[in-house]
Amino acid sequence: GIGEMWKEFDRSKVYMVDLESGLHYLLRVELATHKTLEGEELKTFKDFVTVVAKLFPGRQSVVKLLETLLEWLVSLPLDKIPYDAILDLANNKMRISGLYLSQRVQWVGCQGSSTALRGYPCSLWTLFHVLTVQAASRPDALANTALEEDPLAVLQTMRRYIGTFFGCSECGRHFEAMAQESMSQVKSLEKAVLWLWRKHNQVNTRLAGSMSEDPMFPKTQWPTPDLCPACHEEQEGLHVWNEGMVLTFLKQHYGTANISPKYTS
Ligand code: FAD
Repeated sequence: GIGEMWKEFDRSKVYMVDLESGLHYLLRVELATHKTLEGEELKTFKDFVTVVAKLFPGRQSVVKLLETLLEWLVSLPLDKIPYDAILDLANNKMRISGLYLSQRVQWVGCQGSSTALRGYPCSLWTLFHVLTVQAASRPDALANTALEEDPLAVLQTMRRYIGTFFGCSECGRHFEAMAQESMSQVKSLEKAVLWLWRKHNQVNTRLAGSMSEDPMFPKTQWPTPDLCPACHEEQEGLHVWNEGMVLTFLKQHYGTANISPKYTS
């Protein structure tokens, strides 16, 4: 049963092991379905690596690995890269230089009550919430990159990554529809944090009761009152969000100080 393998965790924390496992899965499994990267796909991947290399609040060895990958992608004069070359770099060159990305996938805050549930998609949401919060707290982090001074940099990168590489194409279509509807109205880095939160709740509403719902982790409007009482208010008998408090909560929850190193090897 799952009992013996279950890893205790705290729902009020974010786990570095989920973020690292997500990157591992993305680079080693999801990307592997594309034999070569070229054109728009390659540009999307480069922008994704730029965003994570500059904003990922991770262990030094992981950040260094991402920076090495970025330098290599940027310096390469090719307009077409075989996936094997990326894998080679991730596996060999980096291991030799002592850089590190966990060799296996292990979910903690994203573990599911069965292996088909949660895991990677949960880690991808978590990663992008962390990245929007980092961008808002370090507005200069993307200086001297193609994504400089764009409050939409992280969201657009996520949108293109999801549309191009995310294994769930239905998810990509839904996300694209939400992006087309309102992403262009986002005018600041803080509004970007809130936009992603609002859209994630919209997805939770749509998926409540569906096949992809883990009975141990029912889809709810998040953060629940136990996580953030001040986020919830009532106006004329109706529930309303206090968005100022939600923003404060998101910055705390997805901020560097709340990312636990527990279970990282
Ligand atoms: P997740 O929704 O993955 O959330 C992970 C964690 O984030 C939660 O445990 C909670 O701690 C926190 N969280 C929850 N809500 C919020 C919020 N509003 N703001 C900030 N943090 C929050 N699956 C489908 O079946 N159909 C789809 O169309 C679909 N679209 C998707 C689109 C995207 C962009 C992504 C990344 C995933 C999509 N998925 C879709 C997968 C689905 O949203 C869940 O990721 C998956 O079902 C696992 O759910 P979960 O219980 O781990 O929670």
